[in-house]
Amino acid sequence: MECDKCGDDAVLHAAYSGLHLCEHHLCRAVEKRLRRRIREDGLVSDDATPEDPETWVIGLSGGKDSVVLTQILHDVFDRDPRIELVALSIHEGIEGYRDRSLEACEELTEELDIRHEVVSYSEEFDVEMDDVVEKDPEGMAACAYCGVFRRDILSRYAETLDADKLLTGHNLDDEAETAMMNFFEGDVDQIAKHFDASLGPFDSDSDAPTERTREDQDHHVPRAKPLRDVPEKEIALYARFQDLPAHITECPHSSEAYRSEMQELMLGLEEDHPGTRHSIMAGYEKLAALAADAYGGDDADADFGECDNCGSPTARDICRKCNLLDALEAV
Ligand code: SF4
Repeated sequence: MECDKCGDDAVLHAAYSGLHLCEHHLCRAVEKRLRRRIREDGLVSDDATPEDPETWVIGLSGGKDSVVLTQILHDVFDRDPRIELVALSIHEGIEGYRDRSLEACEELTEELDIRHEVVSYSEEFDVEMDDVVEKDPEGMAACAYCGVFRRDILSRYAETLDADKLLTGHNLDDEAETAMMNFFEGDVDQIAKHFDASLGPFDSDSDAPTERTREDQDHHVPRAKPLRDVPEKEIALYARFQDLPAHITECPHSSEAYRSEMQELMLGLEEDHPGTRHSIMAGYEKLAALAADAYGGDDADADFGECDNCGSPTARDICRKCNLLDALEAV
């Protein structure tokens, strides 16, 4: 097959758009969608100036998504004095897994000359995921513990690094799976939170069905997912064609059974009905905006206080992370 843009050999048939793309035009298409998402979300604040730049902290795991995100953000903003990029990596204490992906992070950030901070569960919490899995005081999946610890570190270090925004490498597949899981669980609160946490725009010039923006939330550094319009497969191809140092091995503790089921379902739907992921997200974003108007916002913000133990923002007396750490210590 030939590329529909230039006639070279095609490396991808994007069934959802009908386009065949060569290596060059696939890469340009990925970059274009990231730039468009940055524009549509209003990610670059009007207040960002060369004298007073914004700091964007990128959660860099060394996997293909965050590596591609870091590379393209660097290419877009390297000569833009309004934006400073900092990469933040987390070592969970998973033998034979994270060491190798951290090597990928170091190689990339050295090559791009981006400041790189590494934080570990062992230094922060005196635990390692390999031990957490062994002890498992709450009878939960490994990822349930790991997600709580990771979110805590990302939020706290984003503050410590004076971040204006926290960017992660979630792709279209991730987001469509999360959307469907929220629907299937009937979790409207979670849908509202999803909008306020990362989907909503930063300015009100968008065509969203609400004026709601994320400018007024002040208990967390706001998050964004600039790759959320790009299918996972295209990100993997981008990493390969650009020869990026991505580490592509699955974590040995990966345990998100429900998400795996959703992945299977989504793959089948996408094959039979190309464009399913895009249409799910187009409708979900509008519904999430309405749900956030009804369920999120000021009332939810009013419930936020500080953890009595560590001072992190939480709606409870003691935050979830401190509860988990207490349970682990008691084993
Ligand atoms: Fe942590 Fe689960 Fe990711 Fe492994 S797969 S690093 S346990 S969240």
